[in-house]
Amino acid sequence: MADRAFEYLREAIANRHLSGNGPFTRRSQEWLQREIGCARALLTHSGTAALEMAALLSGVGPGDEVIMPAFTFVSTANAFVLRGATPVFVDIRPDTLNIDETAIAAAITPSTRAIVAVHYGGVACEMDAILDLAARHGLMVIEDAAQALLSAYKGRPLGSFGRLAALSFHETKNVSAGEGGALIVNDPALADRAEIVWEKGTNRNAFFRGQVAKYSWVDVGSSFLPSEITAAFLWSQLETARELTESRLRLWHMYHDRCRDLEAAGLVRRPLVPSECRHNGHLYYLLTPSLDARTHALSWMNDRGVNAVFHYVPLHTSPAGRRYGRHAAPLRITEASSDRLIRLPLWTGLPERDLERVVETAADALRAFMPAG
Ligand SMILES: *Cc1c(COP(=O)(O)O)cnc(C)c1O
Repeated sequence: MADRAFEYLREAIANRHLSGNGPFTRRSQEWLQREIGCARALLTHSGTAALEMAALLSGVGPGDEVIMPAFTFVSTANAFVLRGATPVFVDIRPDTLNIDETAIAAAITPSTRAIVAVHYGGVACEMDAILDLAARHGLMVIEDAAQALLSAYKGRPLGSFGRLAALSFHETKNVSAGEGGALIVNDPALADRAEIVWEKGTNRNAFFRGQVAKYSWVDVGSSFLPSEITAAFLWSQLETARELTESRLRLWHMYHDRCRDLEAAGLVRRPLVPSECRHNGHLYYLLTPSLDARTHALSWMNDRGVNAVFHYVPLHTSPAGRRYGRHAAPLRITEASSDRLIRLPLWTGLPERDLERVVETAADALRAFMPAG
C-alpha cells in the first residue's frame, strides 16, 4: 500500500500538475461517484471544507435554523454558524448515539431549513424516518458522513441519502489523505453550482470541459480543492478502501467479542448496531455505568500506556455552542452518553496482542472501581 502511495506521488510530480483538479483528483472523484452512486463528488482539503460547501449550497443564512445532534464534531455546527444560521441541537438515541429521529419534529419551527444527519462511527442514522420528516416539512437533508465511507443503510451507501453529504479523509478516518475530504452531491440540480463554489466562484470547470469560451467570476465561492499531492496519496488509499475497511471491521469484531464478558458482568455496554445498518468498523467504544467510572478507567488506562480517550464534549455545553446554538428540549441521552463513553484505540494494523492488552486493562480498571458483590 505504501509502495503504491510513493508510485502515485512520483507520478503526480512527474505530471507537473500539482495544483488541484488534476488526474488523481478526477480518478478519486470517479471512484466516489461509482461507489456512492452520486451525481457529483468533489474532493476538498478537509471534511470541514466539505461541510462548509454544503452549508453554502444549502442557502441558509441569518435567522435560519439547522437541526443536528450536539453529540458530534465541531465542524458539523461551525459550517452553518459561518453562514449566520443557528444550530438547533436535538438529543441522540441511546443505542447508536445518532440523532434521535423521534425528537426532531418537536425542534422544527418556521425558521428550520435543514437537518444534518451525523452517522456516528459509520453506523447509519434512521434515514427513512429522517427523509420522511424532511419531505413533509420541506427541509433539506445533509449527511455528515465524515466517518461513514463504505457503510450502508438498508443496503444503500451512506452519503447517498442527503441532497448533499460530506466525507472526511482525515488521518483518523478509515481512508486517509492526511487532511482531506469530499463533498457528495446527490441532487443533480446542485452539481453545477457546487463546482463553481469549489473553484473560487468561477466557471473554470465548465471552461476546461469546453462548455464556455472563457472563465470568469460567476458566484460566491472559495478554494476548496486539495492539491494533486494529496489526491495522489488519497487514490492509493481509495484503491485499497475495501481492505482497509475489512481490517478495521476485524479489529472491531475482536473488541466486540473480547468485551462480551465485561458487558455480561454489568461493567460496560458495548456498541449496538441495528440490523439495517452495515457499518465500517470506524471506531469502538464502551459505555461505563457512570462519569466517575469513566474518569477512573481513563486515568487507569492512560497511566498504563493505553491511549483510550473520551469522545465529544457535547456542543451545547461548549462555549461556542452556547453562544451560537440552542436546544429546545433537554439533551439527557447526549450528556449521559458523552459522560460515560470511552473510545478504545483502533487503527489499521493494530496488533491483536495490543488489542487484548487494551481490553485486559479496561477490565482491570472497571473491576477495581466496582468490586464484585
Ligand atoms: C472528522 C469529522 C469531521 C471533520 O473532518 P476533517 O476532515 O477533520 O475536517 C466532521 N464531522 C465528523 C462527524 C467527523 O468525524
